[in-house]
Parts: sequence; structure tokens; C-alpha cells
Amino acid sequence: MPNLLREDEKSTSSSDSSTHQLTVALAGNPNSGKTTIFNLITGARQHVGNYPGVTVEEVRGVCKFGQTRMDVIDLPGTYSLTAYSAEELVARQVLTEGKPDVVVDIVDASNLNRNLYLAIQIMELQLPMVLAFNMSDVAASQGLKFDLDMLQQRLGLKIVPMVGNKGTGKDDLLSAVTETTRQAETATGSLPNYGEEIERELVELQKAVEESALLTDLPPRWIAIKLLEGDSDIREKLAHTELADLADKAAQRLESELGDNPEALLADRRYGFINGVCREAVQSTVESRRRVSDRIDAVVVSRILGLPIFLGLMYLVFQLTFTLGGPPMEWIEAAFGWLAVTIGGLWPTGSESLLRSLLLDGIIGGVGGVLVFLPNILFLFLAIAILEDSGYMARAAFLMDRLMHKIGMHGKSFVPMLIGFGCSVPAIMATRTLESRKDRLVTMLVVPLMSCGARLPIYALIIPAFFPSKWHGPMLWIIYLIGIALAVFCAWFLKKTVLRGETPPFVMELPPYRLPTLRSVLTHMWNRSSAYLKKAGTIILGISILLWAMQQWPGLSATQVGEFETMRTAIATDSSLDESFRDLRLEEIDFAEAEATLQSSLMGRVGSVLEPVLKPCGFDWKISTAMVGAFAAKEVFVSQMGIVYSLGEEQDEESEPLREKLQANYTELQGFCIMLFCLISAPCMATIAVTKRESNSWMWALLQLAGLTFLAWVVTTAVYQAGQLIT
Ligand code: GDP
Ligand code: MG
Repeated sequence: MPNLLREDEKSTSSSDSSTHQLTVALAGNPNSGKTTIFNLITGARQHVGNYPGVTVEEVRGVCKFGQTRMDVIDLPGTYSLTAYSAEELVARQVLTEGKPDVVVDIVDASNLNRNLYLAIQIMELQLPMVLAFNMSDVAASQGLKFDLDMLQQRLGLKIVPMVGNKGTGKDDLLSAVTETTRQAETATGSLPNYGEEIERELVELQKAVEESALLTDLPPRWIAIKLLEGDSDIREKLAHTELADLADKAAQRLESELGDNPEALLADRRYGFINGVCREAVQSTVESRRRVSDRIDAVVVSRILGLPIFLGLMYLVFQLTFTLGGPPMEWIEAAFGWLAVTIGGLWPTGSESLLRSLLLDGIIGGVGGVLVFLPNILFLFLAIAILEDSGYMARAAFLMDRLMHKIGMHGKSFVPMLIGFGCSVPAIMATRTLESRKDRLVTMLVVPLMSCGARLPIYALIIPAFFPSKWHGPMLWIIYLIGIALAVFCAWFLKKTVLRGETPPFVMELPPYRLPTLRSVLTHMWNRSSAYLKKAGTIILGISILLWAMQQWPGLSATQVGEFETMRTAIATDSSLDESFRDLRLEEIDFAEAEATLQSSLMGRVGSVLEPVLKPCGFDWKISTAMVGAFAAKEVFVSQMGIVYSLGEEQDEESEPLREKLQANYTELQGFCIMLFCLISAPCMATIAVTKRESNSWMWALLQLAGLTFLAWVVTTAVYQAGQLIT
């Protein structure tokens, strides 16, 4: 449920002349630039993406303009106001029940015909409205010219040309909003005329609605239209009333008279009305962007080349992530190395103190290990932002649509999955765009198989540790593909078994291609990276300290420590040994002591309980404990490995980076299995929590947790055992 406006939040515009308070709702088709304009006028930084379904819940912000304070609501993008999908219902509810003072309909001016369809429906709700003709740069480049005076007159409302992503038209829009007050309400422009037969029925129904005095806060004509269309929401509200009967009869009459159902007839008339208006007021000269887009699409989504191009682009993205991310990664690594040596130098050599270990092993080893991968994260999200903003991601969903159809779902499910490349939490929330509850559940359950950003540090640690550099890009690509393949497989499996059901028809929308703007791409990248930094400074820091403590405590007993001491003295005083050999032996003893401390620690004990379970996957107790830590946040895997391998290790200029230590301790096969397990296994806590909230049931959340962990175990064990047979 959207949080609808409460009575007391609403306009107080008439009472006080010095400050006005207005509630403004932003409506518009997906991709018309709604979020861009929302951000522009409220100064917020909401996610902007060039594919449908990004905004699923309305988002609020405040905008001050002169003496007016506006509460701005960004509604989910919709093409219409039917009751078929969650977004449309949310949008509609806010419009009807929230009673905004002004609606701003953001229209993609380069695609006027389709965009006006929504505008017409809002006009029928008799809400005061301003049209923002966004993307007027694109419209101009297509050679479209608008007779704005005529359009304003015909539609009876103000129209403001805008270029949202450049900030053009902001003040014009805001002053148009303040001028369009409630009083100006009933527009003088004309609404579609539905033709003699339909109008006759509408007039009758409207009269009946007025007499019934039901749903009085909605315009009677609008109710009549919705009744005739068989709108499920209004029908439900008026079920068992005389009105429902009347509407049924009217619909039947029209159907036999005109040979089609009223819903389709009304839609036709609306488009007819729009076409008429546009023919009068829009002049088109040259080549359209649509046509350019269509020409690109003939190749990019073609049956033969579509998939190879998708795979190729993904490959390129991952290759780039490593090649560009490599050098800055080494700089950060060197910086942390220097920091460790400097901090370590504050204590005299040979002295062990808890604080020193906490700083060096717990914090620098743990959090530093994670921060090293910031450049990779940055470049991956840069690439994804470009793909999204250009409109390519929508094509990817379109391509997957074909595949998804084969397994009984539609490509709309793939949009949340694409968002899942960033983070599963918003991805699971994005499943709200799916109409069927069963499809929603299926999608929610498999979304975590899409490799999220938090897993990247794990891959970025493991891949260079075990594979030669020409394999870096390809390995990452393979891991991501395994995730997609498993997600599709699991969706198919769930759809065949527990969650069988019909999938409503759906036409995938392909927005036109667009050159991404620097600002939007950078915002996107910044949002991601700052989230990563924040996580490193909070959750990961906290858990690293906890894990570090678990590895210190309870420590060796006095007798054990004594034994190691005796061994040391024995060697130190043995004059038959030559000096270098003696040093070597002493180092071995230090190492053995650290190992013994770790194994008897709390963490070591947890690890040894887990070891037999995870052994078939090729994991020792160190990896096993890191896997447990990864449940809190995936990056913790990296920090935990960093802690384990920096404990009992002298910090000096020769300390090797973590990946070299891993290389010395594990095989390639084990490295691959680590990635596989991290990819598939239990998503992080936040994901489980959001699955619980969105599915409204612990059962599905726990099923996701247990199912994915089990799947991870089975797949990893199979791969490890098979791999061992071969090598
Ligand atoms: P929403 O789905 O309606 O919220 O649309 P967004 O605000 O996410 O914008 C979709 C895409 O259009 C983004 O890539 C924006 O940067 C871009 N965009 C927004 N306004 C304009 C505009 O006026 N001109 C151009 N060329 N692009 C725009
Ligand atoms: Mg949006």
C-alpha cells in the first residue's frame, strides 16, 4: 500500500497568503524522465534508469518555490490507469484518494501519442494538471514541432517544454504549477467523445452513479467509464449494487451493437482523440529517433545476433572491470601495506599486544581487504549505468523475454533480475511490477542468484589469485552466466512444481536509445560506490572486529604458552645450530603458536564443526568460517580471509597481498568452488529480510535461505569432486 496523504497534510493554500502549501504528484509513462525531474525539483538523488519498472513505489520530496512549499510525490511510471498492475493501482490510488492539488504529467514529447494516453485518463479524473513536455531536445532533434498554443487550448491545460536532464524549464514548470490551482479545476479543454452509442450509455450510468451517492469523492463520469470498462477495482467497490447490474447490461448492449468489448472500444476512441489532436498540433519533419532505434534493434535484438551481442557486451564489461580496476587496486593495496607497516612500527618489534592485533589484523586486514576492491566496483557500475541509460538493458530484458516464455514466465521478471546485478534488496522490491503473485514469488526467490555487487570483491580476490590474467575477464563472465543460468533453471523448476500458474500476457516496452548523460551516469556510479564505502565503514567494520575477537578468544592456556616458550628457549640456546637455521626454526614456532591459538579459538571451534559438512566442497575450516560471516554481508568473506591470514604474520615490507597467500594455500579448483558457493549460497541477511517483508511470509524467506544453501552445497560438491577426479 502506498502511504496515502492524510487529511492534515493537505493543502492549506487558501488560509495563509504568505506561504502556500501544495501537494504535487508527478505522473508519467515509464522512461519519460519522471525521476529525473523529481530529482531536479526536489534535489533528491533517486535512481534514474532507462528501463521500465525502476520506480515501483511512490517517492516523496519537498520543493520550495517562492512562497510555495510543494510536497512532491514521484508516482510509479504507468501507461494507463487501469487496475491491472500494482504500479497502476498505486498511481491511481494516490491520484484519487490522495487528492493532490496539482498533477504534473511528465510526457516524453518525442513520443507524444503514446504518452498522452495517460494524460487523457488523468484529465478524466478531473484533476488540475500541468503537462511537462520533457525530452523536448530529443523531439527537436527528430524534427518535431509543437503548436503549443493550440495544444494548450485543445487540452485546456498548461504545457511546459523541458529538458529534464539538463535542468531546462524547471522554473517555468514550477510557476505553471502554482498558477494551476484547485479553483482553475474543471478544464475548459475538451475530453474525448466516445461516440454516440457509448456516450449514451455513459450518460445513463453517470446519472445512476450520481443518484446512488456512492464513491462521491470520484467524478461520476469517470466512475461510469470505469464501470463500463469492467475495471476490477471499481467493480469490486460497487459489487452487489444496482450499478454493477446496470454496467453489465450496458456493456452487453455495446458489445452486441459494436462487436467489441467496451474496454477495447474506449481505448480506441482515446487513441483516436489523441491522434486527432496531434495531427493538428504537431508537425513532423525529418527522420525519427524511433526509426534510428528500430534500425539498431533490427540487429541488436534479432533472433540470430541478439544473444551473442548480449553475451559479448557482458564479456566486455567484465574485461573492463579488471583491466581498468587493476592498477588503482594495486595503489590502494600498497597504501594499506604502508599503513600496516607504519602502525605496526608504533610497537617495539617482537611485542604482541591486543590493540596492535586489532588494528593490524582485524581492521586493516579485514576492512582494508574489502576496500581494495572499490575500483572494480566503480568500473562495473559505470559500465552498468551506461548500459541502463542508453536503453540497452531494456533490450536485454526483451531478449530474455523469449527465453522466459519458454519456461512459462515473461521478460518482465527479468527486469528485477537485472536490478539484482546491483543489489538483491531493491531487485526483490522491484518484483512488485509483476501482476501474478506466483510469478512474483518465483522471481523473488531466484533473484539472489544474480551476482550482486557485494559478491564482486570475492570474485576480484579469488580470480587474480588463481587464474592467469588473460582469464580474468572470462572467469568473471562465466560466474555471472552460471548465476543467470541457475536463476532461469530454478524459475523453471519452481514454475513446474510448487508455483504453477498462468502468466498474464505482457508486451515488453523498448524505450528508444539515448546517449547517456555524464551527470546521470556519475550519479549512478556515486550512489553505488558510496553505499559500498558506507557498508565497509559500518557493517563490515563491526563484523570484522567481532570475527577478529572470536579468533583471539579464549587464547591458549598458560601451560600451552609455556610449552612454546620452552621450545623457543631450547632452540635459542642450542649452540650447535647455525644462526640462519635457528631463525627459521623460531619463525616456525611462532607460526605454529598462532595456528594453535586460532584453532582453539571460538572461531576455530565453529570452523571445525562446519569443516566435515563443507569438506566435500573443498573447503577447510578457514573458508568455512568465512562463509558463515558472509551471511551478514557478502563482502565479509573477503575481510574474514584477510583476518585469518594476517593473524600471526609479521607486518613488514615483504608481506604479500592476501591473494598470494591464498594462492600458496589452495588450488585453482578450490578457488573456483569458493566463488561458486558464494554465488549460489544463502543470500545476505538483508535479502532474507526483504523477501520476508515482500512475500509476507517467513516460510518463503526461509525456503529461499535453505534452498539456495542446499543448492550451493550440491553444485559445489559436484564440481569439486568431479574436478578432483579429472586432475
Ligand atoms: P522515469 O522512468 O520516468 O523515472 O525516467 P528517468 O528519470 O529514469 O529517465 C529516463 C532516462 O531519460 C534517463 O537516462 C535520463 O537521463 C533521460 N532523460 C530524462 N530527461 C531527459 C531529457 O529531457 N532529454 C533527454 N535526452 N534525456 C532525458
Ligand atoms: Mg523513475
